[in-house]
Amino acid sequence: MSAMTTPSEVPTRLQTCLHFIGGEYVASASGETFANLNPATGKVLGQIAKGDAVDVDRAVQAARQAFESGPWARMTVRERCRILQKVGDLILDRQEELARLESLDAGKPISESLTGDIPRSAWNFQFFAEYAPAQAEDCFSVDAQERHFVVREPLGVAALITPWNLPLYLATWKIAPCLAMGNSCVLKPAEWTPMTATVLGEIMNEAGVPPGVFNVVHGFGAGGAGEALTTHPAVSAISFTGETSTGKAIMRNAADGLKKVSFELGGKGANILFADADLDTAIETSVRAAYRNQGEICLAGSRLLVQDTIYDEVIERLKARIATIRVGDPLNPQTSMGAIISREQMEKVLQYIEIGKSEAKLVMGGERLDGPGNFITPALFRDVAADARIAQDEIFGPVLPVIRFRDEAEAIAIANSTRYGLSASIWSRDVHRCHRMAAAIRTGLVWVNCWFARDLRTPFGGMKASGLGREGGRYSLEYFSEAKTIAYRYQPE
Ligand code: NAD
Repeated sequence: MSAMTTPSEVPTRLQTCLHFIGGEYVASASGETFANLNPATGKVLGQIAKGDAVDVDRAVQAARQAFESGPWARMTVRERCRILQKVGDLILDRQEELARLESLDAGKPISESLTGDIPRSAWNFQFFAEYAPAQAEDCFSVDAQERHFVVREPLGVAALITPWNLPLYLATWKIAPCLAMGNSCVLKPAEWTPMTATVLGEIMNEAGVPPGVFNVVHGFGAGGAGEALTTHPAVSAISFTGETSTGKAIMRNAADGLKKVSFELGGKGANILFADADLDTAIETSVRAAYRNQGEICLAGSRLLVQDTIYDEVIERLKARIATIRVGDPLNPQTSMGAIISREQMEKVLQYIEIGKSEAKLVMGGERLDGPGNFITPALFRDVAADARIAQDEIFGPVLPVIRFRDEAEAIAIANSTRYGLSASIWSRDVHRCHRMAAAIRTGLVWVNCWFARDLRTPFGGMKASGLGREGGRYSLEYFSEAKTIAYRYQPE
């Protein structure tokens, strides 16, 4: 492992991450802060303003004021999108700075932040800036005298609550369509990863987003800024990405206010290898699907289902490929796996590794590296039963259980046996089999001979305990707006 970061490497202005309210950086009304820890060193990177209901109210009032009295909601979608395009361009201009901050905060390899998270964050804005103005509005003709127009109007103030695993990437996935439709928003980033959301405030100001349209409040979830946002009477909609249990709590809290909700929740993706697959590509991709971003991806292929005739061969090939994964300093460009986000998350993953040892056979990895950082070597388990806890629960870490199956019917039954329904991959050269499998699997996304392929126009979201609603393309634009029907009857001359 190479030398790790010291606190002085964080720019002075981010040594305390402040809220961004009404276009300005402000401390919490209480003056309280909490520590921002570096997952790779355990050292304090800086402080984070600890938002509470008072700060949330300030941010929501700023957002409401901007919505009701500012120019944003009255601009044409094209005018707004010209500004959002600039936001995307500015993110790209600051790609290296943002990638470094993301890796420091989240422990993810710099190679992933630089080529994955940050360009995608820019693309989220650039995509919606092009896509939103191109959408047609519906008009239905009943007869020669009657027309029914469907227009889409903004909702008002939206609360956007995001997790730590893909911080800027997932925040911008919500912010871009939300603002394109004329809403104002308050973002509550995860308490572990405040830095890029804070910098986004500077970028919004520079791009010309009017004050109050975009706000950030830092802090905790339950009992903190997150919960205060979900119960604030002036918030019309909540778009949340995070754990399934948090989604349930938010739904309960939002019920009184009848707020519109959209949830992207947990997953336990089945990655299914048939004996007739292109094994070179399938194995290479399966390793990435399991361990990319330390396995901290909702779409991870976190269960590998392998047909029994190739089971032993696949295990041997996985072993060889996993042995090449370099675990270490997230800022080293050669690193392929970084640090687990927090001490708590690392303890949870290590506990699952212990559970796995009692349920199945640990082939390799699963060790905590010496030192103060949260590093675990990639764990591979074989002979895992489909109902084992490591095969059912979302671990959200570098742990891959490999399950054996005989035929299609058994593969489908295993794939559908968890409470989640976010994504799955099928690997086979038989197009008819792929088609049958894709139809039978109960997930919002099915990949055939690939993983993590996305077109931002398509719906993204989960079935069962993996979510509620869809994001992406027109699905996001529909979520972040109200449809209004205006019927006209023309008087004949
Ligand atoms: P989390 O649910 O603990 O936290 C997510 C966010 O919700 C944080 O900002 C947190 O402060 C906030 N929060 C927590 N409790 C809250 C409450 N009661 N009210 C309001 N806000 C609250 O999730 P996490 O640990 O940050 O992220 C990991 C989880 O996110 C995993 O389950 C993963 O699968 C899921 N995830 C899903 C997707 C998807 O698109 N489906 C994408 C990424 C991550």
